[in-house]
Amino acid sequence: MAAPSLRDLPSVEALLQMDAAAHLVSLYGRALTVDALRAALAAARQAPDLQIPSAEQLMDRAGALLQSWLAPTLRSVINATGVVLHTNLGRAPLSRAALQAVQQAGEGYATLEFDLERGARGARSLHAETLLTRLTGAEAALVVNNNAAAVLLILSALAKGKRAVISRTQLVEIGGGFRVPDVMRQSGAKLMEIGATNRVHLEDYEAALAGGGQLVLHAHPSNFRIIGFSGEPALAEVAAAAHRTGCLMVDDLGSGALLDTARWGLAHEPTVMESLAAGADIVCFSGDKLLGGPQAGIILGQAELISRLKKHPLMRAVRPDKLCLAALAATLTHYLKGEAEREVPVWRMIAAEPGALQARACQWAQTLGLGEVLAGESTIGGGSLPGETRPTWLLALPPGRANRLLADLRAADPPVIARIEAERVVLDPRTVLPEQDGPLLAALNRLLAGHH
Ligand SMILES: *Cc1c(COP(=O)(O)O)cnc(C)c1O
Repeated sequence: MAAPSLRDLPSVEALLQMDAAAHLVSLYGRALTVDALRAALAAARQAPDLQIPSAEQLMDRAGALLQSWLAPTLRSVINATGVVLHTNLGRAPLSRAALQAVQQAGEGYATLEFDLERGARGARSLHAETLLTRLTGAEAALVVNNNAAAVLLILSALAKGKRAVISRTQLVEIGGGFRVPDVMRQSGAKLMEIGATNRVHLEDYEAALAGGGQLVLHAHPSNFRIIGFSGEPALAEVAAAAHRTGCLMVDDLGSGALLDTARWGLAHEPTVMESLAAGADIVCFSGDKLLGGPQAGIILGQAELISRLKKHPLMRAVRPDKLCLAALAATLTHYLKGEAEREVPVWRMIAAEPGALQARACQWAQTLGLGEVLAGESTIGGGSLPGETRPTWLLALPPGRANRLLADLRAADPPVIARIEAERVVLDPRTVLPEQDGPLLAALNRLLAGHH
């Protein structure tokens, strides 16, 4: 008998006649299945020195290809890093009510831009904005796609061609390519840099305003902190100086806390209400940082200014979608009802007391029959409160091959993201949702059995 050759490979048509192919077609559709069979055949032809695969082997390979092509890349993971607002892991997890609102808005039609009373076109801007003004006392509000878009829109509408004063202490890069000076230039504003890297004085602002400054931008330094010889005048002083010369004061708060972080022993993060009270004419912040909602940019301020932003041509390009607005409105409702600390996951995590976390870590250790429970620190992340930590308790896994174990945890289902401290893999219960304890321990059990 002649040695099997490439000519013995079945045709796509022949393969499609097999029961296994019908099964793949039922799972993935005909077009994709044909693509996968062709790819499996092409691979077999590319490697003629290998054994000629049987029809069954080709079918198996096609099935594996289909699975890998369609495997979701946006997967839910268990965040055991202790970083509450982990930007790479999607920042804030949503509350139950926010998720329900998203489900409702997404599964059918909604009054996104429809006025039920008049039976006519309504305002998209209505949904979260009335809640925002009620909550903060601001005259008007506007929601956009994210805070970067908010800053760009504000400066494009209010500072284009104008001299915008900014302190060198605030010319920061937030990450992911967002640099305050670049966004300012992109908007068409002319930068007037004042002060030094570590210090700026009220006189610097006053001199710039007297020298032709037309708008003052104050930007939260976000994810970095200057220690040592540093300082800035209070926002209220800067705003007053701006107003004395008829200039606008814009405050990019970054995180936009509505609750006082100092209640949990953290540094005090300036709140939205404080910024408004200090005299900022426009305040903006993210929806998915300390607010604990969906990705969004929130702008608050005087009605006349907000209305200019709404009319700007960029507005259409940065407007939020219905899913975002649904989640945001539900999140804001938690604050209005005074239940944010209980219902908004990021605040629940920040508020979790060390004693409760220790009990959980101990319970993990007990269930696994290994590991050591050690005192540690959780961080807030997301450009909020750099350098600030909350005391926590960590489950430290037995030492040895920590990097390998970390990688194996990422490969688990669901993937577990942990960190290494003193050459040991540690897991922080603060950021693990309570309902994830079961899946986490199951994944760890499977893994650690393999590691010993
Ligand atoms: C995070 C942050 C931004 C960007 O916000 P996104 O919502 O991520 O677009 C802008 N400014 C400051 C000060 C920030 O902290």
